[in-house]
Amino acid sequence: LSQLFRPLDMLGWVYRTIRQGVIDMGSMFDLIDTHAEIVDAPGAPPLAVGEGHVRFENVAFGYDPDRQILKGIDLDIPAGATVAVVGPSGAGKSTLARLMYRFYDVTGGRITIDGQDIRAVTQGSLRAAIGIVPQDTVLFNDTIGYNIAYGREGATPDEVAAAARGAAIAGFIQSLPDGFDTRVGERGLKLSGGEKQRVAIARTLVKNPPILILDEATSALDSRTEADIQATLEAIERGRTTIVIAHRLSTVVHADRIIVLEAGRVAEQGTHVELLRRQGIYAEMWARQAQEREDGEEIAAE
Ligand code: ATP
Repeated sequence: LSQLFRPLDMLGWVYRTIRQGVIDMGSMFDLIDTHAEIVDAPGAPPLAVGEGHVRFENVAFGYDPDRQILKGIDLDIPAGATVAVVGPSGAGKSTLARLMYRFYDVTGGRITIDGQDIRAVTQGSLRAAIGIVPQDTVLFNDTIGYNIAYGREGATPDEVAAAARGAAIAGFIQSLPDGFDTRVGERGLKLSGGEKQRVAIARTLVKNPPILILDEATSALDSRTEADIQATLEAIERGRTTIVIAHRLSTVVHADRIIVLEAGRVAEQGTHVELLRRQGIYAEMWARQAQEREDGEEIAAE
């Protein structure tokens, strides 16, 4: 019977999504695509979330059967730790995050949370346990309050206000003529990249998940905004297992462990200091990015 209702469910979802005027049509179709692929195992129980200990055991994956993207990944992410994943473009960093959220299933090995294979539990319970702060936040054409409350069904106005404070956007919202009732999105107030990210952080705080995935924005924020947001993120990482998909190394220095992914394999791992000492790929990337920062500063000073 659930087979029969799934398409209906999806139609309802599409209708609501269109009605709300979601801006990013591309991501909507991505989601529909995934809805069709992943199905709960019959009689799957909900995830019993404990501390949030995440493990990748020999994980293999390819979007197409003839092209492996991840080639046997072993990761042990202790509960409450912050792990950063770095590596060249196309190495498979975002793919790790997509697999954890079960947008796709692994083709080899397994991913567990507190000892449970994520394919054996309901998707709803898995996704309730994981908060994602994406690279680009999709805002609904609705109020800023609605956009934050979207993090969890039934969130109260007090919880929304507390989340806004946690994301350091409460002052900005109070300065708006209609406060939390101000309409945002394409047909409302346009928010800057940094403000949108703060809405995403607030949305995640409302959800209050034990596991966090931060997909760092590749789009350039000015360095002051970036530093401010970084401080907010570090505050919300406390007490949660956090995986940071990082594009800039300057933001991963504080991580408990850094994983260097290259061509679908873990090439190096350790703390920032350990990896610098190793004088391998990470040390090379660090030197290159430091040089780029210096060049940028020189240009700015001219
Ligand atoms: P970046 O730093 O550029 O974001 P990444 O390390 O996060 O890169 P992924 O997005 O995980 O890389 O992609 C890994 C590989 O998988 C890339 O070669 C990419 O082209 C491919 N890939 C990503 N998404 C899909 C998809 N939906 N279908 C087919 N191939 C894909």
